[in-house]
Amino acid sequence: MILDGKKVAGRIHDELKAEIGALSGRAPCLVAVLTTDHPASHTYVKRKVAACKEVGITSKVLQIAPQTTQEVLDLIDNLNGDPTVDGILIQLPLPAGINLMQVLERVDPKKDVDGFHPINIGKILLSDANALYPCTPLGIKVLLQAYGIEVARQHVVIVGRSNIVGRPLAALLLQNAPGANATVTVAHRFTKNLDEITKTADILVVAVGQPNLIRADMIKEGAVVVDVGINRIDKKLVGDVAFDEVAPLTRAITPVPGGVGPMTIAMLLSNTLACYKSNFS
Ligand code: NAP
Repeated sequence: MILDGKKVAGRIHDELKAEIGALSGRAPCLVAVLTTDHPASHTYVKRKVAACKEVGITSKVLQIAPQTTQEVLDLIDNLNGDPTVDGILIQLPLPAGINLMQVLERVDPKKDVDGFHPINIGKILLSDANALYPCTPLGIKVLLQAYGIEVARQHVVIVGRSNIVGRPLAALLLQNAPGANATVTVAHRFTKNLDEITKTADILVVAVGQPNLIRADMIKEGAVVVDVGINRIDKKLVGDVAFDEVAPLTRAITPVPGGVGPMTIAMLLSNTLACYKSNFS
């Protein structure tokens, strides 16, 4: 079975559009801050802006070329204090010399649509549902739920321990909460015998950024495989999993593109609406 993130995200967009269309007063507003000229960052922001438009969220892109961290902090302070701005997205990576932690910590946790603020990350560990969770981990959880894939009691192996995917996903699926209650193993560059560990996964999530890292002989037959990786080879997007040889062994697998990526954007929209609602509550 293919876990069609595009289709599930489309349904979520429709629900958000209906809910936003029924709001009285101004529309929710997301501001994206772009600090580099990286083409990939521009592409990602364009996609996010288009998705906002589709569901009725107002969006603005602020492009700056900061020389100091303070410039970014001042801009964030203005956005934090602006009652017409519900969500603030700092497109990563930041330019060299700009302090990532200071920037992430400056965003008002209530406007932190990416869920990267330490308060929101901490709330995942504490199973506090009253938080903004990072979009990719949340999108993976929602995608599995949409296909009725039970996570509870399953061994979930996550390859990759980044602050934006692997670690928060491990904390999310470990929660004592609906759609979670997994037993979680996290692997990284220093993990010994990766294939022995991946072979024990009922659900394998791969978030590394290396094409063909996961081959058929690393999979338990009947596993669910979620491929987060986005790699560009000859203008074609591929994941971290050798899809053609792995897919026949799986019970379900996400494609790249069209798997986790659209879910990430859907969660960004849903987090923006959540910020808007908390602004008015
Ligand atoms: P990252 O910050 O570079 O982290 C990569 C992780 O992979 C690190 O924890 C690293 O280990 C681990 N790793 C590297 N080589 C490994 C190996 N041979 N065996 C086991 N682990 C290994 O990357 P990221 O930001 O999490 O992104 C990962 C991939 O997902 C990228 O392709 C990115 O483009 C994609 N992505 C997609 C979405 C989406 O919406 N679809 C969202 C975010 C990211 P160490 O910690 O030991 O270095």
